[in-house]
Amino acid sequence: MVNYRYLGNSGLKISEITYGNWVTHASQVDDTDAIATVHAALDAGITTFDTADTYANTGAETVLGKALAGQRRESLEIFTKVYWPTGPKGPNDGGLSRKHILEAINGSLSRLGVDYVDLYQAHRYDYETPLEETFQAFADLVRQGKVLYVGVSEWTAEQLRAGAALAKDLGIQLISNQPQYSMLWRVIEGKVIPASEELGISQIVWSPMAQGVLSGKYLPGQPAPEGSRATDQNGSRFIQGFLEDDVLTAVQRLKPIADEVGLTMPQLAIAWVLQNPNVAAALVGASRPEQIASNVAASGVTLDADTMAAIDAAVGGVAVTDPEDTYSVSPASRV
Ligand code: NDP
Repeated sequence: MVNYRYLGNSGLKISEITYGNWVTHASQVDDTDAIATVHAALDAGITTFDTADTYANTGAETVLGKALAGQRRESLEIFTKVYWPTGPKGPNDGGLSRKHILEAINGSLSRLGVDYVDLYQAHRYDYETPLEETFQAFADLVRQGKVLYVGVSEWTAEQLRAGAALAKDLGIQLISNQPQYSMLWRVIEGKVIPASEELGISQIVWSPMAQGVLSGKYLPGQPAPEGSRATDQNGSRFIQGFLEDDVLTAVQRLKPIADEVGLTMPQLAIAWVLQNPNVAAALVGASRPEQIASNVAASGVTLDADTMAAIDAAVGGVAVTDPEDTYSVSPASRV
């Protein structure tokens, strides 16, 4: 089964392997497979689920709501996000204004079929809205009971500091950040993690398998396997950056390391992010039930110093580490 970790400096416990449905539900996979995969996650002991209103232009929330229907609400932690435009994409259909936040939550709750979400996350920083306005809106949602906790995604150390201070003034807490983190993408180690440790903020890290690249199934100089994200019309746009021969060659060097410790390559990749104590959860995706059923065995694994050093030696040369090189710096203006 899956171990639990506290989310930030709060009393909320989440499953350290959390399932997310970006680019899969209402997109790459049909609803029957999507629902079967969520049920496989539940069977494996995952209780925490992450989505966003923007995924499949609201479709992913609807599928997750269907998949979780009938489950005991108190036994689940359901996370969603607000910021990227949805619907007809009018001037107030995105961003972190009071208007959009207070309207967007209602759509998310209705699609998910719940009265509240456990965590509501600002999907990016909004340079067009005063931060005070955003946090006042979040605080109102907490007091209305529509949102239990507040988090953000891909914020810089300075933005986290400002947000945490405002949250405190308003009597709420900012308890999480959701950044990309994997053996191949380590930009949060330099600044975001040290600031978060100070502020009582955890990381819920996305794409811990680098979207499937760290499974080792993409081979240098060879076409991507049929049915993989790299062959999906939508998903292939996002994974491209990792599909370089030097990266794929380095990833193949992880295979003997995984064998040595008795893990599959996906399990090694997930276990690696969980070695960092500031990480509350590895936020994994899966396009089919077998993947999640196998990957959860990464929970509770300790990798010793020699294994961690061997991983650094294998992929250190291709890993992105510059703290300034945040994957997707929040856009200067709303898109
Ligand atoms: P992962 O790095 O875990 O990649 C998951 C993909 O890897 C699967 O969909 C599958 O793709 C492949 N895979 C999984 N297990 C295996 C296996 N055992 N063998 C081979 N291939 C495997 O994470 P994601 O990129 O899916 O992101 C996870 C979640 O993170 C999202 O759903 C979302 O909730 C969140 N996220 C947040 C973002 C943000 O801005 N806050 C941005 C992006 C993601 P396939 O079978 O199709 O090849």
